[in-house]
Amino acid sequence: MKTVFVVGAGPAGLFAAQKIALGGHEVIVLNRDIKPGGLAEYGIYPTKDKMKNGLRKQFAKVLGLPNVHYLGGVAVSNESALTIPHLREFAPQAMVFAVGAQGTKKLGLPGEDARGVYAAKDFVYHYNSLPPFAAQDFSIGKRVAIVGMGNVMVDIAHWLLVDAPVKTAEDIVVVARRGPFEAKFDVKEFNYIEKYLDRDAFQEELKRIQPLLRAVGQDCANVADDTFPVLNKPADRVSGGRLRFRFLCSPQAIHSDAAGRIDRLTVSENVLYEREGSIGCKATDQTADLDVDTMIFAIGDVADPSVGLPYDRDAYVTNPETADTKGASYEIFDPQGGHALEGIYAVGWARKASDGLVGIARHDGEVGAANVLKYLETAPDGTSISAQELLARLEQKGVQTVNKADLEHLTRAEDQEAQARGVPWHKFGHDDAMLRAIEAQKAKESAV
Ligand SMILES: Cc1cc2nc3c(=O)[nH]c(=O)nc-3n(C[C@H](O)[C@H](O)[C@H](O)COP(=O)(O)OP(=O)(O)OC[C@H]3O[C@@H](n4cnc5c(N)ncnc54)[C@H](O)[C@@H]3O)c2cc1C
Repeated sequence: MKTVFVVGAGPAGLFAAQKIALGGHEVIVLNRDIKPGGLAEYGIYPTKDKMKNGLRKQFAKVLGLPNVHYLGGVAVSNESALTIPHLREFAPQAMVFAVGAQGTKKLGLPGEDARGVYAAKDFVYHYNSLPPFAAQDFSIGKRVAIVGMGNVMVDIAHWLLVDAPVKTAEDIVVVARRGPFEAKFDVKEFNYIEKYLDRDAFQEELKRIQPLLRAVGQDCANVADDTFPVLNKPADRVSGGRLRFRFLCSPQAIHSDAAGRIDRLTVSENVLYEREGSIGCKATDQTADLDVDTMIFAIGDVADPSVGLPYDRDAYVTNPETADTKGASYEIFDPQGGHALEGIYAVGWARKASDGLVGIARHDGEVGAANVLKYLETAPDGTSISAQELLARLEQKGVQTVNKADLEHLTRAEDQEAQARGVPWHKFGHDDAMLRAIEAQKAKESAV
């Protein structure tokens, strides 16, 4: 029996932990957030209760395994009390990094730091009540640009138009660098917001870009059957904010008002071209200004360099020599030393940022875990730290952690809080509030 640290308790980390634990090894999961689940808890749309609860049950089953230990509230990073060199001192036989894609893709635009400009992930964390984002200012104005045309854009528009407790957004414009045929969202997700689509504005926009689409053999007459089936349905506009699309343009500069908040977005006008069977775009020297007071980038994320793994071109470096037939490699590679970091692996969105749904992250975690199990067959035994000792060492460093029993107390405390408030669910949006709730729940339960 060997010991494996799994860093990150999203779907990829937890399903990797399960497979390694069922292979007969001790697994210690270290997770930045107090609660497990990653984006399944703090990313998936808040009202998708059924899916979220189903996943929570599966995660609880993983954490119920006696040889899976959980330490929540522990970030492994060059910027925190626990770094990768520290983890190495504890001598696990292998480490699996399942930290997701916590880095932000910066576009390097002038004015990018203006108030009212947000990365989608941070905003999604905010409305899903993840500390510290839950308590940060993500004020939304009346005119919102969402950059990107995938499911995350749809989730954000859905939140702003339908479920935000205070709905300020009157005009949401989706800024897309390519055209309507390159929309990446799932139609069933778009159904949630289709009633807000300003159809007249959409038709006007199609008319404007028709000549540019024609240049690559696309015909606006096919948009409804292809990517926007809402156009085949009878119009059923509801009151509230309106949703528009601005195709074939890319953000170029952000301008702000005297208070430092975005008040205008300059975009470059793009043209399309065909590239090995797919459609690419390139900027022209023409620009346009969009009158917006809020801007949210939903263009995918990148790996977080501060974790301390070898990093290149927005991703952790993996060993090209151990890539499988699909080109996927799980073993971390040091490009400077020119060798693999033995026993260190990446899985899920940490390995390939913003890649697909939970099922894909699960599969990736399990394939990565299979690689780890194979490695462990011949890995030297050594003496690794136990979960108990690790806990003591973290306490010495002043790191407060949450264990599996604490999580159960937290779940009950949140359920009772939801009941008391008469709402379907409640999440504490501060780490301190969660820790206090755990202690209060323990006291309450030990008193009966
Ligand atoms: C807005 C949004 C909506 C989505 N909606 C859906 C949906 O409806 N259905 C669906 O199937 N999929 C959905 N997905 C995709 C799904 O959430 C991902 O496929 C999946 O969560 C990726 O899993 P992961 O474990 O690789 O990463 P994550 O889920 O991001 O988990 C990463 C974990 O690592 C931890 N961590 C991060 N940094 C550190 C560190 N330095 N040290 C220790 N721990 C760390 C985090 O606390 C977290 O627990 C959505 C994604 C987004 C962004």
